[in-house]
Amino acid sequence: VSLLEDGYKLIVIDSNINSSPLALVRVKEILQNKNIAIEEIIFKNGDIRDVNFINNVFKEASLANNPITAVIHFAGLKSVFESVKNPSLYWDVNVVGSLSLLKVMEYYDCTTIVFSSSATIYGDDWSGSIVESTGLEPKSPYGNTKAAIEKILEDFFKISGNNWRVANLRYFNPIGAHPSGMLGENPLGIPNNLFPYICRVAKGEYKNLVIYGNDWPTEDGTGVRDYIHVMDLAASHRAALDYLFNNEPQFISLNIGTGRGTSVIQLVDTFKRINNCDLPYVISKRRKGDVPTLIANNQYALSKLDWSPSKSIEDMCKDGWRWNLLNPKGFENR
Ligand code: UDP
Repeated sequence: VSLLEDGYKLIVIDSNINSSPLALVRVKEILQNKNIAIEEIIFKNGDIRDVNFINNVFKEASLANNPITAVIHFAGLKSVFESVKNPSLYWDVNVVGSLSLLKVMEYYDCTTIVFSSSATIYGDDWSGSIVESTGLEPKSPYGNTKAAIEKILEDFFKISGNNWRVANLRYFNPIGAHPSGMLGENPLGIPNNLFPYICRVAKGEYKNLVIYGNDWPTEDGTGVRDYIHVMDLAASHRAALDYLFNNEPQFISLNIGTGRGTSVIQLVDTFKRINNCDLPYVISKRRKGDVPTLIANNQYALSKLDWSPSKSIEDMCKDGWRWNLLNPKGFENR
């Protein structure tokens, strides 16, 4: 939505293994509702590991005199828990998939890429506000794959004679939904993450939230994270593309967070207050691998990009809940 509002032409590639093709129908509806005319969004269903498939997408675009000029690479598996159980799947989809994409990009001389990285690559040996120069020490196969992809991108950049334009966006904790209530997330199975779990408790699907520890060294004892509204996250991608297009070729890593911390209890209280709903919880022991506090130092991103996150925790709770209320079963069932 953000890119189309800005006049970009898009080709979307997705295997749809954990997403719905209806999301793109909704994207078009949102723009129509805003009277924004867009060209057809080209959609290609396929797997990122399939070099022939990716090659055909690039070839078709070139033959149509509309060569692909940049890629935003979000394609990957993203469950820390699942990655511990099945690391080879994560290396295959995330790393082999990225490599097949990069080889095709190189072939077609498309050398501008914004990559969805993650704050999880910083590991868990620190606490507090993190800067980009912090050493990478991922603690899960998922984190390892994100760090490895950053390294591969760096090598592509170097071997090209520093000619690629690469932005690694290291996401902190994205939550919320499009303010229209028409686009949002619906994780398969029991959510591992706090916000989708809160939504399911509020909907009455689960009896209560389980808070992993109230004995952390934080103000109220519960874990503190840097939650960022998905619309601010989306805007950071648009800003990163603009930045890459308008500056010298470079390899850059940016923390995408608000720089503000919110505890589990604070998020629960805000959600209840803003949405006027009940949210029972119980306290259990700490979850393995968790850290007390994880907050982005976002100064570098703010200084480089024409971007700053503008949405509050209240906005995140309101928009996320609106999406859940309007789409209790996700895209398939309004
Ligand atoms: N959390 C919790 N209960 C849950 C899920 C998460 O108390 O059901 C806590 C978790 O311990 C952490 C915070 O919520 O302090 C954010 O966790 P999440 O999994 O959403 O993101 P993470 O920062 O771990 O990637």
